Amino acid sequence: MPDCLVCMDGELVPHHQAVVHIGSAAMKYGASVFEGIRGYWSESRSCLLLLAVDAHLKRLRESAKLMRMDCPWTADRLRAALAGLAQANSLQEDSYFRVAASITGQGGIDTTGPVLLSIVQSRKARHSHYQTGVTVSISSTVRINDTMMSPRLKCVANYQNGRLAKLLAAIDGYEDSLLLNHQGYVAEAPTACICFVCEGRVVTPMLSDGILPSITRALVFQIAHDLGIPMLEKHVTRTDCYLADEAFLCGTGVEILPVVSIDRHKLGPGSPGEITKRLQRAYEEVARGVQDSHRYPGWAIPIG
Ligand code: PMP
Repeated sequence: MPDCLVCMDGELVPHHQAVVHIGSAAMKYGASVFEGIRGYWSESRSCLLLLAVDAHLKRLRESAKLMRMDCPWTADRLRAALAGLAQANSLQEDSYFRVAASITGQGGIDTTGPVLLSIVQSRKARHSHYQTGVTVSISSTVRINDTMMSPRLKCVANYQNGRLAKLLAAIDGYEDSLLLNHQGYVAEAPTACICFVCEGRVVTPMLSDGILPSITRALVFQIAHDLGIPMLEKHVTRTDCYLADEAFLCGTGVEILPVVSIDRHKLGPGSPGEITKRLQRAYEEVARGVQDSHRYPGWAIPIG
C-alpha cells in the first residue's frame, strides 16, 4: 500500500524503500517466516483492536526457531513496533499487519542471519464471498507432511504447496481448494483451516493431519463451546466432506468463510448454513471487542 509507512528493523520508511536484496537468503532460498495479524477498527472505542496478537507473535518466534534463524526480537519489542507503525499510519479502518523475519545475509543455503524484522500495514477488506460462500475442490496436490517440511512452520517456502493447489482450483473454476495429506485425510486449504458441520457438531482435522495450528480455529473451538455447539478434531475423509451439512474455512484472512460446495457436491441446500452463520456473528463480536473481554481475554487487544 504505497501511502503507508513500513517498519524495517524498527525504522519507519516509505513503502518503496521497504526492499530486500535479490542475493539474500530470503530471496534465494525462501528463508523468511511471517505472521498476518488483523486489526479491527472499533468505532465505539476509536481504536484498532489486534486479534490474538500475542498468539501470533508466539507463533512467529516458534517458526523462526524451527527455521534455525537468529531472531533477537522479543514479543514486547514486536508489540511496540506494531503500535508505533499503527500510530504513524493512523488508519481508522480494518487493516492487516504482515510481520516477517527474513534472512538478509547473502551467503549459502545455511545462512542463519542477519535477520530483518519488517512490518507492513495495509487496508483489509472482507472476503468478497463472506456472505454467499465459496465453492471448493479437493486438490490433486498433496499437503506437505512433517517428514518433509513442518506444516506447523509459517515460512514463505511452505506456501508454494498451497499456491499450486489454489492456482489449479482457479483453472478448474473453483474459488478455493482443500489439500489431502499423504494418508488421504483432509488437511486444510492453502491459507485457512477447514471445519465441517455434521449432525449439529463441528468437525475439524487434527493438528497431526498436516495443518497450521490456526489461531482462528482455536477461537472457533472457544466460541462453539460458548454457544453449546459440540466441536471435535478427527480424521476427515473425502467422503465425509461430500456428506457434510455445512462447511467453512477459518483463518485470519478469510475469518469464517462459508463453503457451499465441494467438488460440485452441494452442502445442505448449497447456501451458507445456520451454524456457520451463528459462528460468523459470534466471531465478529469477539473481534470487535463487543463480547465481554473477561470471557475472551487476550483476543481483541487495543493497539498501543
Ligand atoms: N493454514 C494456513 C496454511 C494458513 O496460511 C493460515 C493463515 N494464517 C491458516 C491455516 C489459518 O491460521 P490462522 O487462523 O492462525 O490465521
